[in-house]
Amino acid sequence: ARDGRKRVLMLVCDTGGGHRASAQALEAAVQTLRPDGDVDVKILDIWTEHGVWPYNKMAAGYPFLCKHPWTWRLAYYSSMFCELPWVLETRVRNGAKFKRCISDYSPDLVVSLHPLTQHLPLHVMRSLDSEGILEKPAFATVCTDLGSAHPSWFVKGVDACFVPSDAVRRVATRRGLSVSQIKQYGLPVRRAFWKASEQRGVSEPPAKLKAELGLLPDRKTVLVVGGGDGVGALGKIVETTAKQLARDMPNAAQVVAICGKNKVVARQLESKKLAWEGVHVEIRGFTSTISDYMEAAHCLITKAGPGTIAEAAIRGLPTMLSSHLPGQEAGNVQFVVDNGFGEYSPRPKKIASTVSAWLQDDEGLRAKSGAALQVAAPHATRLIAVDLLEMLDAKVVKSAK
Ligand code: UDP
Repeated sequence: ARDGRKRVLMLVCDTGGGHRASAQALEAAVQTLRPDGDVDVKILDIWTEHGVWPYNKMAAGYPFLCKHPWTWRLAYYSSMFCELPWVLETRVRNGAKFKRCISDYSPDLVVSLHPLTQHLPLHVMRSLDSEGILEKPAFATVCTDLGSAHPSWFVKGVDACFVPSDAVRRVATRRGLSVSQIKQYGLPVRRAFWKASEQRGVSEPPAKLKAELGLLPDRKTVLVVGGGDGVGALGKIVETTAKQLARDMPNAAQVVAICGKNKVVARQLESKKLAWEGVHVEIRGFTSTISDYMEAAHCLITKAGPGTIAEAAIRGLPTMLSSHLPGQEAGNVQFVVDNGFGEYSPRPKKIASTVSAWLQDDEGLRAKSGAALQVAAPHATRLIAVDLLEMLDAKVVKSAK
């Protein structure tokens, strides 16, 4: 702690919005727990800012991988089965730059929130320590995947590893992490999600909130959320769902489409929506108030992103999943289906008929909402932050001796 402030370095890579979102959530929790400001937190996309080609292009290339799942599958499984050559190659090519960046900040605690920020940072920290440049900081992994996780998240040399679910705990255990290293609270989520909702169907979404969001009050409401980057076949899903609801429950339903950063889809939907009679449709771009929209809705359609699913669980929102990336997101589908708060289909027609049936079955909605709340973890962010601060304080005390 150079200027009297303790330093926390949070490592992410902006492949999707979830890693940084989790880091920001933890930063907020840390600062809430330490209002006197003695902790400095830096969130860093270390691969984009300090990696060499092609690693510095991973974040920029992520939307391409999502659009072409076979490329994702190739990257995911090849990195799973050819781990050692990858680890060695990245050490040789990126080690020096990572070393400089970490020693410049000289953190007391490093928190990794990405599967590719375990091996190399740990290696670099060990060599900085042995060269006498920087005493090895404490190191924690916070896994931001939900229903399954790539093995490279889990490396034995960490001081603590936070997992969000039983399924991810099993992967960590298989990789040799011990019971004392693994801690299970849930996924870190933004402050708006630190309190769970009432069960749907027991209490109706508040009319006042709907009005504030520009929605009609007395209608069953389907929320459709694209990923933070707007990935997924959003347009087709919104259109098919709106038409089905107009047929099945005329003038009794509305669809809110959050298009994220996908401006093209937002424009296309906006130009078509007046043609859909018997259903109300609202189109939104990227919003920072997803929590309010989830509170106002009766059910959700989304891709199988871990953050969105964890948020939906906290809002007690029945969830229809429309797509998933190969690999870790398949586990997210299992998480929703096995825990009884939703279903999965990639086919817009099936998605539309499923949510239409849900909206016409109050008892079913209530049951799914209750099941979602059962697995909700609104306190996870705070609990993880408490443990991280404990690690930080212990490290600083030890270093001072
Ligand atoms: N999100 C948001 N505003 C939007 C669209 C999405 O805040 O307009 C958030 C969403 O609530 C979630 C995150 O973006 O927290 C997406 O993370 P997720 O893990 O679901 O998917 P990823 O993009 O990381 O694959």
